[in-house]
Amino acid sequence: MKRTLKGTKHSFTKHKELENDMREALKKRQEFILFFQPEIDITTMQIVGWEALLRWKHPEKGILLPEVFIPIAEEAGLIFSLGDLVFEQALYQLHTWLSRVSYPMTMAINVSIKQIEDKRFVKNIIKKLKKWHVSPMMLELELTEKILMEKTSFSKKEIQKLLKVGVHITIDDYGMGLSSLKDLMDFQVYKLKIDKRFLQRAPQSDKGMRIMETIIEIGHLLGMKVVMEGVETNQDFKILRKLRCDYSQGYYTGQPMDDASATEFLEKNLAMRELFFQNQLDLPLKF
Ligand code: C2E
Ligand code: MG
Ligand code: MG
Repeated sequence: MKRTLKGTKHSFTKHKELENDMREALKKRQEFILFFQPEIDITTMQIVGWEALLRWKHPEKGILLPEVFIPIAEEAGLIFSLGDLVFEQALYQLHTWLSRVSYPMTMAINVSIKQIEDKRFVKNIIKKLKKWHVSPMMLELELTEKILMEKTSFSKKEIQKLLKVGVHITIDDYGMGLSSLKDLMDFQVYKLKIDKRFLQRAPQSDKGMRIMETIIEIGHLLGMKVVMEGVETNQDFKILRKLRCDYSQGYYTGQPMDDASATEFLEKNLAMRELFFQNQLDLPLKF
């Protein structure tokens, strides 16, 4: 008992420490950085978009992943400031890339329900889209099934407002949570991102394969694009091809990278595209 109490106290102190560090870091706006992971069209192998993934470069603890600090930010009411920083950096990055590239690419940003519940949320997004001259259609908000479950009539209205201006909605980690087909009816969902756990289990599970096939079919019948996340191997990639999934995201087709590496990745992809247009290459290229 004594040990448990001590343990609880210890984790509470650690939690508080991180919360205080986060307050300081948010003032400086330097320690939070975005990594970008490409989404690749599985037919043309071209980049169709990016997902912004937040990292905290803690001065003592090193790089911290979102699962460690997002719950603390949500609890401490810091998620809005953190989200603001994410939108600013992600839209700035997309603006920079789009000014060099003559074809559309999207930027997907993960949001939590607390952010949508904030009444400044929609206004702030619109302001940032204008500031960085990014068309709303180039922005995707990734909402998990959990968010859709927890939505209130207020957050539902806020999501509708964003849809109205043209922002796209993607359902993240689809199929493993409390997926409701009703949400697909209520919202104009642009993309379904199938939860990586389906692909992880696919080789041993015939049922898993059929579920993925069904989700892709439902997505296509409803006019949506379907992305598979967690594509790690050539075998995984072959499964996507077989199931006629649209896009791939995972370590196999591109790791999450810092801005400089992502720019280099984009440039290589562009060079490949040029060769393709000049008919010097047959697709698929690397895969
Ligand atoms: P998510 O949106 O489902 O993001 C995908 C996660 O899978 C990322 O973890 C990514 O690094 C990881 N991943 C990418 N490719 C592969 C792969 O091939 N195999 C495996 N096993 N994993 C892969 P990460 O970056 O740790 O993010 C975890 C979660 O944190 C995200 O899940 C998202 O829900 C949340 N998150 C990330 N950035 C933000 C943010 O800016 N705001 C909010 N509210 N949540 C965020
Ligand atoms: Mg996501
Ligand atoms: Mg996901």
